[in-house]
Amino acid sequence: MEKKLYEYKSIPWEYHSRGNFQWVIPFCPVHRMELRDYNNSPSGFCDDCNKHYAWNEHPDSIAQYLRRKLASKAYQEAEIVTIDGIQTPQLKLKAKIPEENEEFWIEAKLNNSTKGRQLVLYAGEKGRSGKAQIFANIDQEKLSFDHNDRKPEEIFAIVTVQFPSGKKMSIEAPKDND
Ligand SMILES: [Zn+2]
Repeated sequence: MEKKLYEYKSIPWEYHSRGNFQWVIPFCPVHRMELRDYNNSPSGFCDDCNKHYAWNEHPDSIAQYLRRKLASKAYQEAEIVTIDGIQTPQLKLKAKIPEENEEFWIEAKLNNSTKGRQLVLYAGEKGRSGKAQIFANIDQEKLSFDHNDRKPEEIFAIVTVQFPSGKKMSIEAPKDND
């Protein structure tokens, strides 16, 4: 099996796990040689360097840290299922578009979760894929948009949101100077 060392606190560690028990072995960063006298100790000695390497932590807690850290790698792509703030659509509406702009469409959705109310505005052009998605977090008074989709400025000249407190925020397309 391929040998692996994990660098932590400037020390390369070999990680071992058997059942619910984990332990680590420190290696010399220069010689890749197992350090000695490290059991229950915050440091170890390299015979070839003739010096101590210190990490100021009990090897058991380093083993536990590595266990959690290595396990976390397997969860990076995991789906997060929100169970304490389920997004419940409260309202969905299709806005009427003035005739002169009938190539566009716009839809709004109001969600409610424990994080507060969020108004989502979707807008695009008929017959063209992609849409702008604008999020107004009503209770946090935040206005943002989905950067992975179309930019709001490709569809709107300006979007202004007025929050219940009276505060207004806008997303505005850059003005052409010509
Ligand atoms: Zn050494």
